[in-house]
Amino acid sequence: VPSFANSAMDGFALRSADVGTLPAILEVVTSIPAGVISDIPLGSGEAARIMTGAPLPDGADAVCPVEQVRYLPGVGTVEIVVPVRRGAHVRHPGEDVRVGDRVIEPGTQLSPGHLGLLASLGIDAVEVVDHPRIGILSTGYELTSAPGPLVPGAIRDANRFALMAAVRQSGFTAVDLGIVGDDDCDVTTALLAGAARCDAIVTSGGVSVGDFDVMRRVLQAICGRSARWVQIAMKPGKPFAFGTLVSSGVPVFAVPGNPVAALVSFELIVRPALRRLGGHHLLRHPVLRGIASAPIERKRDGKLHVVRAIASVDGEGQVRVRSVGPQASHQLRAMADANALVLLPDGDGVAPGMSVEVLVPAMDRLEACTAPSVAEVA
Ligand code: AMP
Ligand code: MG
Repeated sequence: VPSFANSAMDGFALRSADVGTLPAILEVVTSIPAGVISDIPLGSGEAARIMTGAPLPDGADAVCPVEQVRYLPGVGTVEIVVPVRRGAHVRHPGEDVRVGDRVIEPGTQLSPGHLGLLASLGIDAVEVVDHPRIGILSTGYELTSAPGPLVPGAIRDANRFALMAAVRQSGFTAVDLGIVGDDDCDVTTALLAGAARCDAIVTSGGVSVGDFDVMRRVLQAICGRSARWVQIAMKPGKPFAFGTLVSSGVPVFAVPGNPVAALVSFELIVRPALRRLGGHHLLRHPVLRGIASAPIERKRDGKLHVVRAIASVDGEGQVRVRSVGPQASHQLRAMADANALVLLPDGDGVAPGMSVEVLVPAMDRLEACTAPSVAEVA
């Protein structure tokens, strides 16, 4: 691609040897639209009107753009007034892709550009890794997703919907495994049934040290030696459990029930693993360097704090961040308002103007005041 020499401009195909002395007057012998092969070869002193993408006629070795010539339609000649070197404005065969080129590496997520590239090569079928199917299970007697008023003590299941969306956004298929109570048998049954139709399972809730926190026990029982139950030096998202089901090899990731913790654990711990499972080579979202535009306070506790924040790009291209609203791990609203997570290492926090690491899960949610705007350029 391209498979034949063609014009990069609307203009005149010519023989560069004819325009060594300027101005040069050439006879226009034909007009060639894109898609048409001219059967009139160019002789000495001749030019052809040519459109972008049209095959160069035999004899021509350069194109002069129409904007740079003196030409009156109907006159039959064109006056070339600027130098035109050999090969000017000609797209040569293989300039984009050559025979035998390796164009896409395995593990690449196919972008619009890749699909266009494949189409331009006439490739209408490619071998891909299917989107892994990720089951999402909520645990907790208190949870409901039934419409209408809540019975006293009940809360609405937020995590299933948040995690299914996070799974889809990461390029996977989300499978809704519903809600299950804090009962070892019920959780086991739900996991084994889910494993029959999923490549991996993410559960939320029941991973901590409460009396009804079943995940540790259940994973130990059905994941054998692969079962892990860990405390991560991170806030939110400290408790975490993992195991690979002995019966099927399906991995189970158990994130905490607090909705912010669930999403933060998913982002930092689960997502990279799922991306690898899906054959991706880019596992993590980008972490940028940003400048705090307001203080971000914290206390020393030996943990990485993951702060919900709003990031924007200022006129100089600098990322600026400020923390949003209340930061407790049950306060989902600040998570919803945030477009970034500040990774704040242990310490006393940062003052305005200090540099911080900013994880940006969705670049299309990053506000940018890019300079200059299209309107200003116009
Ligand atoms: P757990 O991790 O099960 O101890 O739950 C911690 C907190 O998160 C409790 O207040 C739960 O009620 C709450 N929670 C657990 N699962 C969910 C969920 N799916 N949606 C909303 N809140 C939840
Ligand atoms: Mg619970």
